[in-house]
Amino acid sequence: RVNKGDFFQALDEIKPAFGASEEEIQEVIQNGIIEFDSEVHEILEKGKLFVNQVARSERTPRVSVLLHGLPGSGKTVLAATIGWRSEFPFVKIISPDRMVGFSEAQKIAAITKIFTDSYKSPLSVIVVDSLERLLDWTSLGNRFSNAVLQTLLVLIARKPPKGRRLLVLATSSLGQHITNLGFSEVFDASIKAPPISHLEQLEVVLDSVELFPKGSPGLRQTIQELSDAGFPRNASAAEEPTLPLLVGIKKLLSIVEMARQEPESAGHRLMNGLLNVVGESR
Ligand code: ATP
Ligand code: MG
Repeated sequence: RVNKGDFFQALDEIKPAFGASEEEIQEVIQNGIIEFDSEVHEILEKGKLFVNQVARSERTPRVSVLLHGLPGSGKTVLAATIGWRSEFPFVKIISPDRMVGFSEAQKIAAITKIFTDSYKSPLSVIVVDSLERLLDWTSLGNRFSNAVLQTLLVLIARKPPKGRRLLVLATSSLGQHITNLGFSEVFDASIKAPPISHLEQLEVVLDSVELFPKGSPGLRQTIQELSDAGFPRNASAAEEPTLPLLVGIKKLLSIVEMARQEPESAGHRLMNGLLNVVGESR
């Protein structure tokens, strides 16, 4: 006899066909986005336009967008957030994190399956995360998997079957190599994830994560000290900085968490963390 329990179980079994990695996407975006610059808001708005284009335009059933930027600039979370907010029935992420230990053939099979699965849904978003890692790219000697490259080029460029619509959001820190690898031709647009390059942006981040107690003078003092050290105060100062600030949001948040461990000297820990980043990039 079929009972109500069977019915719900059946529903659970159907769900993976479409939304199987909902949890995976949610896990990626759970820490949220800090709008440390108007650019961040603009990126999400642009994302919405691409989503609408895919959903509505007859002429472009497939749109693919590249999110590029420095390591740790927030590419994965921006792409996943745009995908999640689309509310399309199929939103999945192709993540190299889930392919550790895969052979080249297994990777190709896993990537191809996600695209093939998406063709069953009328509206889909696929986040192709970290092209460089999917390709096993090594900057030393430019070695990478040509088979995975060819697979990605074909799948990203391919139109979905009739009546199906697909938005591909890929992320990469490959910089110029993107062009040499042939990706430029398969992307319809590209978006740059902004790094944090001046203290006004930093202040928004520190305020948002409450490194210093709300209303205490700590935040203002720290920004003053960083300014005295030579970091640029605002966007125009960042063009000719005494001391260049160039840090991805991911790295900055990890510096903040380290500073938080010692509340009495959080400002100094933060300063040292940022000076280290400057040192590393020299
Ligand atoms: P990698 O180069 O290592 O792949 P990434 O550029 O993909 O890094 P993410 O993995 O997206 O960077 O990490 C960004 C982190 O910063 C996430 O924890 C995210 O929650 C947080 N974050 C806060 N504000 C923003 C923002 N404005 N944009 C993107 N991420 C943000
Ligand atoms: Mg990433």
